[in-house]
Amino acid sequence: AAKSQGRGNFQFFSAAMNVATHERLMLENRLWLALEQHEFELYLQPQVRLADQAIIGAEALLRWHHPELGLVGPDRFIPIAEESGLILPLGEWVLQQAATLLAGWRARGLGHVRLAVNLSARQCHGAGLLPQLDRLLAEHGLEPALLELEITESAAMQDPERSRKLLRELRARGCKVAIDDFGTGYSSLSYLKLFEIDRIKIDRGFVKDIESDPNDAVIVAATIALAHSLGLSVVAEGVETAAQRDFLRAKQCEEGQGYLFARPMPAAQFEALLLADAAPADVAQAG
Ligand code: C2E
Ligand code: MG
Ligand code: MG
Ligand code: MG
Repeated sequence: AAKSQGRGNFQFFSAAMNVATHERLMLENRLWLALEQHEFELYLQPQVRLADQAIIGAEALLRWHHPELGLVGPDRFIPIAEESGLILPLGEWVLQQAATLLAGWRARGLGHVRLAVNLSARQCHGAGLLPQLDRLLAEHGLEPALLELEITESAAMQDPERSRKLLRELRARGCKVAIDDFGTGYSSLSYLKLFEIDRIKIDRGFVKDIESDPNDAVIVAATIALAHSLGLSVVAEGVETAAQRDFLRAKQCEEGQGYLFARPMPAAQFEALLLADAAPADVAQAG
C-alpha cells in the first residue's frame, strides 16, 4: 500500500509540476509582449502617518492585465521576469511611470506626496539604474526626496559591496532608501550596520500576529526602538486591524500601510483619495 501510495503521490506531484511548468512557460512567452502591448499598470497603495492617518505617500505595485487571465499580481510574474532578464526593461518602465506620476501630482498641487518604488536584485546590480534615475530627476525636475527606493534584504545581500555603493549613490542624489520586508532575511542586523538607509519596512509577517503572539509583539516593538535609535523611521506593512494600528502607534511607529487603510488601487483612484483626504483638513483650518 505504501508503495502504491508513494507512486500516487509521485504522479500527483508530477501532474502539479506540469501545470506549474505550463503556466510558467505561458506567462514567460507572453511577458515579453506585454510591455509592448501596454498591459502593465502601476497600482498605488497609500502609506499613512499613524498619528493622524493622513496619507503621506504611496507604494507603487505592479499589475499585469493579462488578456486571458485578467489581473495578475507581481508574485506570479516578477520571479519569471527576474530570471528571464525582462525585469530590466520592466523596471525601467516602472521608474519612468513613477516619475511621470510624481510630476503630475506636483502639477495638481499634490507636490508633497512621496512615492516608493520596488527595485529588483538585477536592477540593483546592473549599470543602468543610476543613469536612468539622473535622467528622470532632471527631465521632470523632481524633488529627489519624494522618490523612495525599496530594496529587500535578500536582494541587497546578493552583492553587499555593490549594494552598499548603490544605496550611497541613491542617497547622495537625495532619494530615500527603505529596506523592504525587514526581518525576513538572515542578516537584518548586519544590513543595518552595512548600509546607509532612511527607513525600514517591517514585514507583514511580524505585524500579522502582533495581537496573538507575544513574541511577535516584542520583536516589532524592539525593531521600532532599534530603528529609532539608529535615526531611521519605520513603516509597518500589512496593517489589517485597528488593534494592530493602535499597537504600532503606541510604539511610535511613524507610518503604516495595509488593507485597514486601503488596498492597492489605480493611480486615478489614489489621486481622488488624496484630494478627498486633503479637503477636511482645509475645512478645519478655514473654520
Ligand atoms: P512588497 O514590496 O513587500 O509589497 C507589499 C505587498 O503586500 C503587496 O503585494 C501588497 O498588495 C500587499 N499588502 C499590502 N497591505 C496588505 C495587507 O494589509 N494584507 C495583505 N495580506 N497584503 C497586503 P503585491 O502587490 O502582490 O506585491 C508583491 C510583491 O511583488 C511586492 O512585495 C514586491 O516585492 C513585488 N513587486 C511589486 N511591484 C514591483 C515592481 O514594480 N518591481 C519589483 N521589482 N517588484 C515588485
Ligand atoms: Mg515593497
Ligand atoms: Mg514588503
Ligand atoms: Mg514582499
